[in-house]
Amino acid sequence: ADLAMYRVKRSGGNQVLHFEAQMGEPGERQQLERDLRGACERGEMRLHYQGRHDLRGRQLAGFEALVRWEHPTRGLVPPCQFIPLAEDSRAILNIGEWVLREACAQAAAWDFERRGLCMSVNVSPLQFELPDFVQTVSGVLKRSGLNPRHLILEVTESLVMHDLERAQRHMRDLKALGVQIAIDDFGTGYSSLSVLQALPFDQLKIDRSFTNALTGPRAPRVTALMTAMIQLAQTLDMTVTVEGIETEEQRRILTGLGCDHAQGFLLSRPLPPAQAAALIPDATPAPS
Ligand code: C2E
Ligand code: MG
Ligand code: MG
Ligand code: MG
Repeated sequence: ADLAMYRVKRSGGNQVLHFEAQMGEPGERQQLERDLRGACERGEMRLHYQGRHDLRGRQLAGFEALVRWEHPTRGLVPPCQFIPLAEDSRAILNIGEWVLREACAQAAAWDFERRGLCMSVNVSPLQFELPDFVQTVSGVLKRSGLNPRHLILEVTESLVMHDLERAQRHMRDLKALGVQIAIDDFGTGYSSLSVLQALPFDQLKIDRSFTNALTGPRAPRVTALMTAMIQLAQTLDMTVTVEGIETEEQRRILTGLGCDHAQGFLLSRPLPPAQAAALIPDATPAPS
């Protein structure tokens, strides 16, 4: 019943549409589904890292780990094409744990603690629903040697609204470990404000659809919304990151609105580890 409810919620959002728009033929979906079985165990997953930057100075504040699937014949498959499949088959549980281990190990290898950087990792609703999720995170952190304060878990509101009490418990326990929690894609769901009422997030990430619209025909309305979201976050003591900055004009507007941090192609693209390492001031070579 839980899973059925989750599916209904998900098809109410834009994820399914997004998926269908990108997937093409139904036969292709089945082929990908078959190929995805065991893909993580065969070592076909990769992480790219996108910088999160201080908006004024452009200094690096950390990275977000973004998974890609290196398919044997198709090349790098983006997450929008396989995460929904991996959620349906529950393969996301293995993939998600691998991502967490790999990202924490990378952050430790890049000496994030000394450099004051943070690693952000996306968490699927199915992972967050596991009763032992917090123990898994704690175990991964211990083995990696990464200080928990340098890990940020990114969750979406559909995840937390599905079972609010469990989300509250997990958040309390994760915070007790020292891990930070961000609400991702803020402003795109149906319950954004009640989520903020119920749960003490450390960071708020404003969805890139708002950034896109900042310079379009609805600019005055979108600017007002953006201003309100940034103030809201700051009032609640959350760090704000605006997603999807692609132009100098967007950067200028958002700097004026007092936004703290930003991600976007203008600042840096998601990059394989060796290239991401080059963004770190006085970087050491990336382990391959
Ligand atoms: P997200 O967590 O909101 O990640 C940001 C997405 O926006 C990334 O897409 C990134 O490449 C893209 N992006 C960043 N800056 C710009 C920009 O300036 N312009 C545009 N057009 N796009 C930008 P990506 O890597 O394709 O990931 C898409 C989504 O897949 C992520 O959205 C996240 O929800 C999910 N995802 C990625 N990695 C993982 C993972 O390890 N686990 C889980 N559960 N989900 C993941
Ligand atoms: Mg994210
Ligand atoms: Mg996002
Ligand atoms: Mg997004």
